[in-house]
Amino acid sequence: MTRRPSRVPAALRRARFAPAVLEVLRRLDAAGHRSWLVGGAVRDLLLRRRRLDPADLDVATPARPEQVSALFEKVIPTGVEHGTVTVLGPGGVPVEVTTFRGEGAYLDGRRPSSVVFLSEVDEDLSRRDFTVNALAYDPLGGELRDPFGGQDDLRRRRLRAVGDPAARFAEDGLRPLRAARFAAQLGFALDPATRRAIRPALAVTAKVSAERVMAELSKLLLAAHPAAGLALLDATGLLEVVLPELAVRPPAARRHAYEVVRRAPRELPLRLAALLHVLPRGGDPAGGAEAAARARQLLVRMRFPGAVAELAAALAAAQGCVLAAPRPAAPRSPAEVRRFVAGVGRERLAPLLALWEADASAARPPARSRRELATLRALRARIARVERTRPPLTSAELALDGRAVMEALGLAPGREVGEALRHLLERALEDPGLNTAEALTSELRTWWARRPGRAAPGAPG
Ligand code: ATP
Ligand code: MG
Repeated sequence: MTRRPSRVPAALRRARFAPAVLEVLRRLDAAGHRSWLVGGAVRDLLLRRRRLDPADLDVATPARPEQVSALFEKVIPTGVEHGTVTVLGPGGVPVEVTTFRGEGAYLDGRRPSSVVFLSEVDEDLSRRDFTVNALAYDPLGGELRDPFGGQDDLRRRRLRAVGDPAARFAEDGLRPLRAARFAAQLGFALDPATRRAIRPALAVTAKVSAERVMAELSKLLLAAHPAAGLALLDATGLLEVVLPELAVRPPAARRHAYEVVRRAPRELPLRLAALLHVLPRGGDPAGGAEAAARARQLLVRMRFPGAVAELAAALAAAQGCVLAAPRPAAPRSPAEVRRFVAGVGRERLAPLLALWEADASAARPPARSRRELATLRALRARIARVERTRPPLTSAELALDGRAVMEALGLAPGREVGEALRHLLERALEDPGLNTAEALTSELRTWWARRPGRAAPGAPG
């Protein structure tokens, strides 16, 4: 076994890998299958982004899946056809072990038509996407394999495809999206040839499943440098594949959206809302039920989880964009503020204000941004003042419930009960002092007496 510890950077030499992982490597080695830690964990350790969780460590081995299975008591066949099994190491710690492999021709731009198992670690590294991901470390033998200059690219903070970028992207359309995602996570630039190879491969990327695209976009949005990743999607044409609705917006609106994403809290619904808040509202006024429904459909079509889509769409529609005209004025009077908070919902108020702040702080020119931030600050103060008295904002918070309404009016359950509660809430939003059983009952009787036979429930005044 070659021992070249001096070549191995300290970040790897000093790393304390989980005993379960080392034990799995030891047992494979003892059976004559020299095995390696590969992929993202090696990259991240070299970057001093600590990644020692066994779940993040991938083991690559020349042993075939059935040979691996024979060496351990507990093995789960996670993806045997691709050469991956999950070994339960000491203490039941799961460790993913994948046989060195190369890939046959890609037929659909996503999956290789066949997998060939290999015996050399360098051959396994040659099928990997970027040089910084094509590193293998053997902590027992103290050797780092870096056949494509990955360490040099780590130092230069550069993503470079392994081999011919055009060929690698034509094989697998997910790789350009991974490039943008890694750029966002690592803050790296793309090597020029790698970057140029993206556009000719857009048709291949268009074949990638919505689930995979959603997963990459989510990681990109939650990364440390999301605006850089988004700018890369934008400049390479990937945005037209991933989110055509945004790609057709004017460049200034797109740039603003990326800036708002960067400033928004690191939560998926908020970052999605920031991305989508520049989509046209189609004449839909403030609150924007239609705009919200459209945005939700878009996100569901992109396979975002329902709850994420729902919240992101609601926030994007409620916010609109501070740069878009016309925009409704911020609520001023206490009644307007109560209606606003009731419309947003108390539980969505904090994320909405966070989005608003990101939107306002990203606005240009700076004077505009300062004005928008001042407006927001004043609104926050008004909301705090109004909320100090905890006014009723939903019909559940009214001093009368549906049963009391039915009793007072002698009604059976039905549409009128809901109408009555909506009317009472409307009145209580105007004047929270009305929220006592007596005052609401009297208000209810007046409303009922004046209610025209079958007319639709009208807005007051
Ligand atoms: P992270 O776990 O942070 O997402 P990672 O680099 O570990 O980053 P994974 O998706 O876990 O990425 O993949 C593990 C490794 O497998 C990568 O480092 C890379 O070497 C290889 N790999 C993954 N996907 C591809 C692909 N589409 N084409 C080529 N190699 C890939
Ligand atoms: Mg990984």
